[in-house]
Amino acid sequence: MSRRIEGGLSSQLNPFGPQWPTSKDPGQIPSVGEQVQRALFSRPLPLVLDPAKFPMLAEQMRLLNRYKKKLAALAGDEDDDYTLNLADGPIAQIDEQGNIYMGAQFLFAARDNPELMVGVLAHEIGHRPRRWADYKVRKDLTKEDLEALCRHEETRADLFSGRALAELEMSAEPLVQFLLNQTQLATPHPEYFPPEVRAQVIRDAHMSRGYALESRKKLFPDYERLHSPKGHLGEF
Ligand SMILES: [Zn+2]
Repeated sequence: MSRRIEGGLSSQLNPFGPQWPTSKDPGQIPSVGEQVQRALFSRPLPLVLDPAKFPMLAEQMRLLNRYKKKLAALAGDEDDDYTLNLADGPIAQIDEQGNIYMGAQFLFAARDNPELMVGVLAHEIGHRPRRWADYKVRKDLTKEDLEALCRHEETRADLFSGRALAELEMSAEPLVQFLLNQTQLATPHPEYFPPEVRAQVIRDAHMSRGYALESRKKLFPDYERLHSPKGHLGEF
């Protein structure tokens, strides 16, 4: 992060320095974090459903709540940084407070595919939306800047999902195949790389973390038994 004084002479002379706004009062420009949060996590929220009315999804919600704890630990967060909701909405969505909305239709379709459900949840937790609130630099982003940041952010979430699935000793292929089969994602949305690129990112992250996990298990079997997210039992 630059510590350059806003509007200082050096920023005018340095062609590689950030472009500080000249016309607007810097105090009026939202922080980069706010702009990203708005672009990625402030979409209209889906209708939250009462899980009691969807007993056929109770088992899936229980499973996801268990994995939420492991995934939050892997991401470096607390379990209660995230709340899981059943929703009448798209596949999955997270808001800037860490509320996760899992689409009922998606859960029903994926009811026998825990690796896919956990992979999708991992992607959402991988966003760690609260951390954007700490990104306080104020800079007027162009549409292209913001789209590039959003692609970067989506890639981070994809990387996390690949790594997390490897740590949990689950396959990433169901998530990869799901992405590749999403016809509505086939035309790259400006916020995403094309599905083939995302699939590769997830596979690579999964493979390299899988190797790391194997050698860690060989070298530190006890550490692994005590600390691995797979064996994360939470507080006693
Ligand atoms: Zn995402």
